Amino acid sequence: MISLSGIAVITGGGRGIGRAIALSFAQAGADVAVLGRTAAPLEQVREECLALGVRALAIPCDVADTAAVRAAFAAIRGELGPVDILVNNAGITASVKFAETDDATWERVMRVNVTGPFVCCREVVPTMIERGGGRIINIASIAALNGIPYSSAYSASKHALLGLTRSLALELARNGITANAICPGWVETDMLADTLQNIVAKTGRSAEDALASVLAISGQPRVITPDEVAAVALRLAGPDGAQTNGEAIVLA
Ligand code: NDP
Repeated sequence: MISLSGIAVITGGGRGIGRAIALSFAQAGADVAVLGRTAAPLEQVREECLALGVRALAIPCDVADTAAVRAAFAAIRGELGPVDILVNNAGITASVKFAETDDATWERVMRVNVTGPFVCCREVVPTMIERGGGRIINIASIAALNGIPYSSAYSASKHALLGLTRSLALELARNGITANAICPGWVETDMLADTLQNIVAKTGRSAEDALASVLAISGQPRVITPDEVAAVALRLAGPDGAQTNGEAIVLA
């Protein structure tokens, strides 16, 4: 059983992988702040965390909006205190042929998946340095290590997130701060469901066929659960995680 102390922020914490991470961190004893664009699911996670006996905040915030991110972290510092653990989990994908990828799609994916984590890291790193420690966990993807057809913006954004992770790990190791990326294959969340629905709508194939083909591309024997990703995040956030820095941990 891993015990956590301190304050954890999880972006995209209202559903999917982020929700699983928020609940596992609260179960382990961390105070938790969850960020996302939609208030209702965040509030529900906040209540579930409170029921586990920790302090919890739910803050509606689009990570692509720098001013909103800065205000969210100011509220977290004011209400909970300095952040010990940051999980950059909020992310979006865009399943589209490369030649049909327009500027708006490219820029939105980059803004949410790369600029958002950059701004969130910039909000917490100065106090982590002052306090001599911290954990940064970025939810990347196997698309951070491999190309994915029909997902060039997503794959490029996750490669960039991994580059950010590795650079932070090298720069901040002397300050007792670790930065790691978790790189899952397909996980059972809305993101997978939306991707399969998109393939079915565009190709007329069955959902089973669509699932078999995405799993074949990612080389996965099965779909991963959000709890499996949360277990890796909890290990990185916990006492034994201090030994792991600059890694891209693949789950397939
Ligand atoms: P979901 O689509 O189920 O959830 C995405 C979460 O991110 C939601 O909580 C959503 O909340 C939040 N979010 C999306 N955009 C923003 C934004 N602009 N600002 C703040 N929050 C935002 O996805 P998953 O749980 O599957 O994905 C979580 C992470 O894991 C992503 O980074 C994804 O790329 C990565 N990943 C997912 C895999 C999968 O197969 N599912 C595989 C590998 C990696 P709201 O909509 O309310 O803002």
